[in-house]
Formats: sequence, C-alpha cells, structure tokens
Amino acid sequence: MELPKIRHMGVIVEPHKAEMHSEPVGEMDADSVFIQMETNNICTTDYQHWDGLRNHQGFPMAGGHEWSGTVLAVGENVVGIEVGDRVAPAAKGCGRCVNCRMGRTSCCIGKSGRTLVNGYLGQRGFSNYLIMDWRSLLKMNKDLPAAECGFLEPVSTAVSGMKKLRVKPGENVVVIGAGTMGLVNAQVAHAFGARVIVCELTDKKLARARSMGFADVINSREEDPIARVFELTDGMGADAVIAAVGNSKAYEQGYKMLKHYEGRFLLFAAGYPKPEMHIDPNEVHYRRLEIIGTMNSDVADFKDAAFMISNGIVNCSYSLEGAYYPLRDIQEAYKKAATPDTYRVTVNLQEI
Ligand SMILES: [Zn+2]
Ligand SMILES: [Zn+2]
Repeated sequence: MELPKIRHMGVIVEPHKAEMHSEPVGEMDADSVFIQMETNNICTTDYQHWDGLRNHQGFPMAGGHEWSGTVLAVGENVVGIEVGDRVAPAAKGCGRCVNCRMGRTSCCIGKSGRTLVNGYLGQRGFSNYLIMDWRSLLKMNKDLPAAECGFLEPVSTAVSGMKKLRVKPGENVVVIGAGTMGLVNAQVAHAFGARVIVCELTDKKLARARSMGFADVINSREEDPIARVFELTDGMGADAVIAAVGNSKAYEQGYKMLKHYEGRFLLFAAGYPKPEMHIDPNEVHYRRLEIIGTMNSDVADFKDAAFMISNGIVNCSYSLEGAYYPLRDIQEAYKKAATPDTYRVTVNLQEI
C-alpha cells in the first residue's frame, strides 16, 4: 500500500488566525508508526495560544496533542502495535536524562528547545497523517468515539495529580470548577475511591456535573461553598481540595475548605492573568497543611489513563462539547473553543 506523502495540518499563524497548511509527512524508519489521524480536541493550551494569551509559545504553531488515530503501517522494530490499531500519544521524555531513567518523564531535563521543522513549531496534532516513534504511543479502545480516546493526555495529568495528592478510598475530595478538567479530575478522584464534592458557578457546568451522577454539586453562586463543604462533611472539612481553575477566589475558598489537620490542596491549573494566593505559613505549620503543585504526567500515568479510558473507568464524553469541525475550518473551531463555558471542541482530521 502506498502511504500518503503530503499532510494537511492546522496552524496558528498569529493571534486569532488559524489556517490549514501542508508539508511532507516525512520518512518512516524501523521505529516508526504511520498514523491516519481521526480527531484532535482543542486543549486550553491551544485556544489560549490562538487567543493571544500565550504568545511565548511561538508562531507559526502546528500544535495539538489530544488526538487519536488508526495505524496504517509499522516499522520492523515496533512492538505491540499493529496495523488497524487505534493509538494516542503519550509523552516519553528524552529517555536519557536522570529523571527519565527513573520514569519521571514529566521532569525531563534533556529535552531540546523548541525546534522549527519545515518552518513550523509544534507536534502536528491537527494533521491528517503523522509518523511517530512507537514508544510514544499507547493503544486505545477502538469501540469508543475517537474524541474520547483523545483524552489520554488530560486524564493522565489528573492521574498524576491524584497520586501526588495521595487520595485514599473514603476521603472527602472537593473539586473546584466543573469545566473540562474539573470533570476529569472528579472522575479520577472517584476512581481512586473518594467521595467527590463539586463546586461550580455556571448553570451549564452545574448541570453537566449533576448529569454525571455526582450527588454533591454545590452552586457557589447561590450558597457559601465553604459552609456547605463543612456541612456535607459533618463539620470536618475536606481531606483534599483540587483547584481545577486558576483563579484567586477559588484558591481562597479551597484553602478554607480544608480539614483542620493535614488537609491537602492541589493546584491543578494555571490562570491568566496570574491569580493570587494568600497563605499563612504559621497556619500551614501548625495545621500541617500541604499545598501541592501539579502539571503534566509521567509514563506510568499515561499507561494508567489509557487503561481507565479504554475500560470505561473514566467517561470522557462528559468533557466534550459535542461540537465537531472539519480540519479545513480550523479557524472556526478555535473561535468556538475560545468561547467561555465551552467544553472540549473536536476537529475531524480527515475532513480537509
Ligand atoms: Zn492538553
Ligand atoms: Zn529526559
């Protein structure tokens, strides 16, 4: 079978301007997998870049990392991935630095800087064809919609955070924010055995969180979320709080929801403009509180996330807006994704 030589890809050319460009797909080697791409979801990282909030990421950006696709061909060294399999990308780090050798690929210090290929930055997630090293791919369930398998990376980051937060069965865990990543965090916390309490401000997201079956969803616009958390936990407070929005108010409220001794607070999201957080060091000391930062995920977290998605432990359909755009309409897709209160928007990568 003759493999395609040219790919089409979505490129952010400058703020508020995305276009479909083309370039050679490249050559296969013994470790390569040739992928016919299915869908890519637009991550916050992507649409905030399009929106001019992350100009430091550079232009022209042929990015995208929340995709899945079908294998068309494999090189001779490839193990465990066959033609016809569905795959999604897992970051593997450089594989050589001290952190990668310990499996801590999220802390890779051996990565080269941003490099231009054919004049473009980025990983080409918004493409119709892609060649990747098999060690950066995980197999996903073919029976799920492709857009749900595109959640491999987002779910892996929630798994990574949950391990850092050391969530145990029977704990009260509050998730602040029921956006795309709030809902993913809520589901992963539930999978870790927690009783999950969700706080949210907007009607659309409150309804979405309730539709997932969470009994304790707090409308923070209408009631005091701190008082309500203490009420729901028999006056104890939360064992752990996950701030799934980068927002000063969320930090202030989340901190006050913690149980008196040994509460843990996970800062999951970045916020633009930069939010503020005020903590009293003496209080952290006396109450033995923990403030934990998290971002990205290690290889083991990707593997766990692939299992959880493929086996229905996490259902990512809730985090999808249900809006699909052809690759040729990438500009419209970004416009939709950057609209407030929108869940993940999906690009159909074979529609060029
Ligand atoms: Zn992402
Ligand atoms: Zn490394």
